[in-house]
Amino acid sequence: MPFRDIYGQEKAIELLNQAVHRERMPHAWLFTGQANIGKFKTAVALAQKLNCRKNGEDACGECDFCLQIAEQNFLDYQVLIPDGKFIKIDQIRKSLNWLHLHPDQAKNV
Ligand SMILES: [Zn+2]
Repeated sequence: MPFRDIYGQEKAIELLNQAVHRERMPHAWLFTGQANIGKFKTAVALAQKLNCRKNGEDACGECDFCLQIAEQNFLDYQVLIPDGKFIKIDQIRKSLNWLHLHPDQAKNV
């Protein structure tokens, strides 16, 4: 889902777009706030924008990379969500190990 399809997150999207255009992408973003306001969709859209094969102003949402990210099937993209009520230490350990791997498909940003 490209940024253009997300509603109610205009300020967050503007901030993310500014970071992309300045080529100063932090190593991590933390999306916080109330439930069901579009945080996850916005995070997915950012991953798509950064890796979209079409290099447009927004992700195309249709190329193989955009689709793989949407389906959580992109090798260099990982979603960490709580296993139960909390994120467990083992999940964090696995993520940290994963973070040490070199990217396979992702653009180097
Ligand atoms: Zn794309």
